[in-house]
Amino acid sequence: MAGEFSVNSYQVTFMSRKSIVVIAFIAFSISMGWMLLSNQPRSERAAIIVQFGDAEIADGSRTEDWLAYGRTHSEQRFSPLEDVNTDTVSRLDVAWYVDLPKDVGLVSTPLVVGGKLYFTGTMNVIRAFDATTGEMIWEYDPDVAGHIGNGRQAGWVHNRGISFFKGKIYASTWDGRLLALDAKTGELIWSTRTFEANKPLYITGAPKAFKDKILIGNGGTEVGPSRGFVTAYDAGTGEEVWKFYIVPGNPAAGFENEAMAMAAKTWTGNWWEHGGGGNAWHGFTYDPEFNAIYIGTGNGSPWNRRIRSPGGGDNLFLSSIVALNADTGDYLWHYQESPGETWDYTSTMDIVLADLEVDGRPIKAILHAPKNGFFYVIDRATGKLVSAEPFSPVSWATHIDKESGRPVETPGARYEDGEANVWPSAHGAHSWQAMSYNPITGLVYLPTMNMGGRYVDMGLDVSWRAEDFIGGTGVGLFEILLDDNIPVGMLQAWDPVKQEAAWTVPQDHPWNAGTLTTAGNLVFQGRYDGMFVAYDATTGKQVWQYDLGLGISAPPITYRLDGTQYITLLVGYGGGYTMGLTPGLPDEGWAYGVHTRRLVTFALDGNTALPQQPPPFFPQPLVYGDFDLDETLATKGARLFGTYCAICHGGGAVANAMAPDLRASRVPLDSRGFAEVVREGVRVNRAMPAFASLEDEELKALRHYIRAVAHRDASRNRSESDRIH
Ligand code: CA
Repeated sequence: MAGEFSVNSYQVTFMSRKSIVVIAFIAFSISMGWMLLSNQPRSERAAIIVQFGDAEIADGSRTEDWLAYGRTHSEQRFSPLEDVNTDTVSRLDVAWYVDLPKDVGLVSTPLVVGGKLYFTGTMNVIRAFDATTGEMIWEYDPDVAGHIGNGRQAGWVHNRGISFFKGKIYASTWDGRLLALDAKTGELIWSTRTFEANKPLYITGAPKAFKDKILIGNGGTEVGPSRGFVTAYDAGTGEEVWKFYIVPGNPAAGFENEAMAMAAKTWTGNWWEHGGGGNAWHGFTYDPEFNAIYIGTGNGSPWNRRIRSPGGGDNLFLSSIVALNADTGDYLWHYQESPGETWDYTSTMDIVLADLEVDGRPIKAILHAPKNGFFYVIDRATGKLVSAEPFSPVSWATHIDKESGRPVETPGARYEDGEANVWPSAHGAHSWQAMSYNPITGLVYLPTMNMGGRYVDMGLDVSWRAEDFIGGTGVGLFEILLDDNIPVGMLQAWDPVKQEAAWTVPQDHPWNAGTLTTAGNLVFQGRYDGMFVAYDATTGKQVWQYDLGLGISAPPITYRLDGTQYITLLVGYGGGYTMGLTPGLPDEGWAYGVHTRRLVTFALDGNTALPQQPPPFFPQPLVYGDFDLDETLATKGARLFGTYCAICHGGGAVANAMAPDLRASRVPLDSRGFAEVVREGVRVNRAMPAFASLEDEELKALRHYIRAVAHRDASRNRSESDRIH
């Protein structure tokens, strides 16, 4: 039996009487939803957002919003929107933009809910805008500078995202707070500390909202003795609901649960004195089908297993995916990707859920591309490996044994002879830059970094203690290795079933942004060089680009309001990698304070002129003949600079986009002004920490070092041609 049915001009063909009811209900819901969202005045859209929770976040068919970090609970970053497609994309242009003069590094994914667009920017400032016009609605500044404890001195300028749940925006702060804000007004509803401010921990990740809970972890394996954990809080009150430690503590104190007792059997020595690590700073995925939350865990603290766990061992749950019961936080299963990790092979990268068919068998899969260079397909029902193949040059292991699920390691890769060149590097073959999965093409769009690392621990004192360092790894020397025959960066379309690349686009810089894919058969990615590019999702052919004039590190999102599909992204070179310039890579001239950070939104036939950014800028060292340079002081200053300053102001005092180039700054010329900035913290609101412990003599040594470098570099008469390229 066939017939025709119509509600509000929706024409639907149906096959049975039962279908009529279902189709009518769907059509009615769609039309009601459409009316509520699009025909009501903008100010009233907010009234209905209070309802949105897990059902809406899980609903991949929604197009008028972008409700979660990875759009839906699947974290696929796939949109069914197709107004912008391979045929129309050439008409894509700027619809509106907002200048963000106070921001520096921008890496976050905006959310769109009820016609408003929200994002977290530099210093964790959260803002809400009208998602169709860019008009600002509210701004909330959590005063990170005022909450920062002692000892945490870098990287607090960026955060990767926020969460929405039932009318509230949830945000984390660098100093360890979790905040709930009224999505309508930006008013603070509750704030809770997830760790004490003086702990050597920090948060750069997006909180994960699910089942009236908000989950957050933290980073810190390189800044002190650290025992990783994640905590779930009640979304309504901010009360702690459950907490899960990632590595075991001191057995003498007893274990929190059976999982920790099990994990402790895989550690040796007095690991707890080093903390052990495993910090989960990114990559939390909620799976409604299995009532599970998957945690991507971090590397060991310190990196070097010889120090951390001298008798060897897998060191659970480092570098793993750990599945926990979403209600209780109880352990369900784990899959360890880098057993006994010793290379900073974090597994905190995005965990994507997808339905695959492998060898004729349907699989509820996890797709995962961690730092260690293998692309993993894991069965969510069992936690067992389905397949794993390298997506970037890998030398630490020859392959992953399918039967045991364990890597087969290459002898020497653990720098057991004191040194080793190992691929991938500690930056990883893939980091937090989001990958996206398109269920229509069946491909994962994966930002890839092809670099090796040289690890040296010769002569290292194995009695080394994590307390002794300000930023350290237990590896004496670590260098990046490049291969002229392999592109240092790539956008790959990875087929997770065949476990091979369908296409690749080589890039001459590794640090490109995360991706978005759509039913318009498109993939969007922002690049380090300021280009925002669209590719044909099937073939990899470039079909559109726009020069945004400043390096891009944040992934784009898309949504459709009032009949227009918008594509939005934050523009502002950022992330840990950009803080100090990495030698040997192109310097694009994204200088601090020169290029304006922006929120830019595109639409078909957009007709807003975007003011041009200044051209790439290379700070010129200042030379003052009357500065009486003391070589002994300069040598002492070089050591201090490496310890305190280089991570933001650049190795050799050559800065990247994240902080001023001190060779070109007037501040070091004046002893009083230098002390005010460096020791007394007059620029703490602009992310320059106060180094209260520095003595007068040390400040003087730093000034002499900076002058020495400025004189040296000025005399080289730096020009276009001798820039590192
Ligand atoms: Ca790490």
